[in-house]
Amino acid sequence: MRDRWGRPVIGLRISVTNECNLNCFYCHHEGCLNDSRRMSPQEIEKIVEVGTEFGIRKIKLTGGEPLVREDIVDIVAAITKPKIEEVSMTTNGTLLAKIAAELADAGLNRVNISLDTLDETTYERITGRKLLHEVLEGIDAALAADLTPVKLNMVLLAGVNEHEVERMITYTSERGIIVQLIELLDAGGKNFTTYHRNLDDIEQSLRERAVAVRTRRSMQARRKYILPGGEVEVVKPMHNSEFCMHCTRLRLTPDGHLKPCLMRNDNLVDLLPHIGAGDLEGARKAFAEAIARREPYFKGAAREICVPRSV
Ligand code: SAM
Repeated sequence: MRDRWGRPVIGLRISVTNECNLNCFYCHHEGCLNDSRRMSPQEIEKIVEVGTEFGIRKIKLTGGEPLVREDIVDIVAAITKPKIEEVSMTTNGTLLAKIAAELADAGLNRVNISLDTLDETTYERITGRKLLHEVLEGIDAALAADLTPVKLNMVLLAGVNEHEVERMITYTSERGIIVQLIELLDAGGKNFTTYHRNLDDIEQSLRERAVAVRTRRSMQARRKYILPGGEVEVVKPMHNSEFCMHCTRLRLTPDGHLKPCLMRNDNLVDLLPHIGAGDLEGARKAFAEAIARREPYFKGAAREICVPRSV
């Protein structure tokens, strides 16, 4: 099913909890507000089943930190369905080492591990915890469990980690990991203007060194730079109408609301009561409504080339 802007909905990004064992100062918390309920593995399974009727083929588990849920392996097992082509997870990696093999056995295909720095002091400054060593062990465990391609998410922060890009490219290239350089999104508060780092110059230098450049249309038109030794993706969401135009995701909050856009909370659709009551028709209507409410957040020039259709 396509939304009013002609965009298919392929991915469901499920935030399984708002809890996190880190406290990154810039975090957008996946745009989720505090919750009073929490979806069970069985409820998540039913939601995914209904989602497949609308074209959902890829599931991303996120949070909060998904690995703080004690039943995370059950959640992964529950959503591994024939129609689901990929189950992946975004994690801070601190709790991954012990559970990576079990997650892979349950059906997890791959992971994105968030790591903004390889420096212990900077890690503590960003996250509030001294857990860099645990993350590095988690990365090794993900590779050993074949949760590949492993991607490493690095949010660029002015004056904090911007000088570490080359070091991170070397670290990831040596291990066959793809690094994603991510532009800081404005999550409100005062941090954005202090730490926002424009990625244009970094991208230009990657372009000059790349042996090939690919644009991943299904991934919000992200650019992937193939370097002689590794791969780097650049994610620039801020004021990027092209990024929004190619968005194929719907989100699910920990308390079971469908969320059409990371950046908004005024258009959520409550899905969990339908699932709890076994009301599949109501659940289908909720999905259709959430898809109808999707619209590009950063519209800009997209207005001219991406005209809304009536549904
Ligand atoms: N706890 C998990 C983790 O650390 O990967 C999953 C949740 S975290 C919110 C998901 C991703 O969003 C992380 O890669 C994080 O770096 C990124 N992120 C958080 N706040 C952001 C912001 N303001 N701008 C850009 N990316 C952000």
